[in-house]
Amino acid sequence: MVKTDVIIIGAGPVGLFAVHQLGIKGLKAVVIDNLDKAGGQCIELYPDKPIYDIPAIPECTGEELTTKLLEQIKPFKTDFYFNERVNEVIQEKENWIVQTSKNNKFTAPNIMIAGGVGSFEPRKLPLKEAEKFEGKSLFYSVKNKEIFKGKNISIFGGGDSALDWALELSKNSKVTLIHRRNEFRGAPHTLSEIKKLSAQGKLSIKTPCELVAIEGSKDISEIKIKYEDGKTEQIKTDNILSFFGLIMKLGPIAEWGLGMEKKAISVNSDNFQTNKKGIFAVGDICTYPGKLKLILSGFHEAALASVECFKRARPNEKYRFEFTTSSKTIKGRLGKK
Ligand SMILES: Cc1cc2nc3c(=O)[nH]c(=O)nc-3n(C[C@H](O)[C@H](O)[C@H](O)COP(=O)(O)OP(=O)(O)OC[C@H]3O[C@@H](n4cnc5c(N)ncnc54)[C@H](O)[C@@H]3O)c2cc1C
Repeated sequence: MVKTDVIIIGAGPVGLFAVHQLGIKGLKAVVIDNLDKAGGQCIELYPDKPIYDIPAIPECTGEELTTKLLEQIKPFKTDFYFNERVNEVIQEKENWIVQTSKNNKFTAPNIMIAGGVGSFEPRKLPLKEAEKFEGKSLFYSVKNKEIFKGKNISIFGGGDSALDWALELSKNSKVTLIHRRNEFRGAPHTLSEIKKLSAQGKLSIKTPCELVAIEGSKDISEIKIKYEDGKTEQIKTDNILSFFGLIMKLGPIAEWGLGMEKKAISVNSDNFQTNKKGIFAVGDICTYPGKLKLILSGFHEAALASVECFKRARPNEKYRFEFTTSSKTIKGRLGKK
């Protein structure tokens, strides 16, 4: 069981800034996210798009903002738990216990939910038999590319992830890239590299077609695809990699007994606490009169919630408001003189 002052659910921009606001008050936090990296919507949905309304930063991309936020919280040496979805929240006296999809447990007097529009999850293959191979020979992301070496890999999708992995894995494996349309959406440069490999017989492209069956008992042995004209083809396959994009699911958050309004968590705008003491909601996931789903609003919400977190985590200490410019304590926590 990991003990901390605040458990932050969500490593989007607001969850990251919450680490800062808690850190300068001397509070330790852990951050848990279902994705494999920090940044939330900024990284998953618009890494290259410029944002123009972050105070004092006239223009920065989603990725640049994430990098800066991570840099700003470096002094706090925060532990991040990625690829884990928070499934359960249980009360134990004055503390909360959080359990994740990897069965890790965390306890703290405070939980800050910065879960955005819910957890991002891969859009799964619609075939029933897909489930039994998931995580063994069928994957929706690549965690360790070494396991695919020397194998027959069927990659599904038409976007950047499908193209990037087709290119990368074709160095050491026999790759078939399958897409339901003739046109791919990924970067033109990657696509032209892939077409070159296909012309040299080093990679196979199958379009426009869809997966209709997966065969195999314990592991996948073969797949069947169907072309638009109804013709079918069997392809020898050890592994399937499917990249059909991400969907956002509110998921288990809706089952924690929190006051909800239109798929968002109701909070009071004094301290962003929910109907449960010690559980706060900040960023896109919270709602209150006048709420704006903007990054800057989330930053403000995290700052105010962190004050109440301090009071709960340090009930015997008095909270003192301080400026970062002049507080020796804060400067010390940031490693500045
Ligand atoms: C195309 C686009 C352009 C935008 N442009 C702007 C702009 O110009 N300016 C602006 O201010 N805003 C903009 N926004 C909105 C902005 O991105 C959001 O307001 C912001 O990302 C909200 O941050 P957040 O940290 O609250 O949530 P998110 O960024 O959504 O992050 C939430 C994180 O929580 C994780 N999570 C959720 N539930 C769980 C769970 N149970 N367990 C584990 N992890 C969980 C998710 O995986 C996710 O990583 C834009 C949004 C989009 C889609």
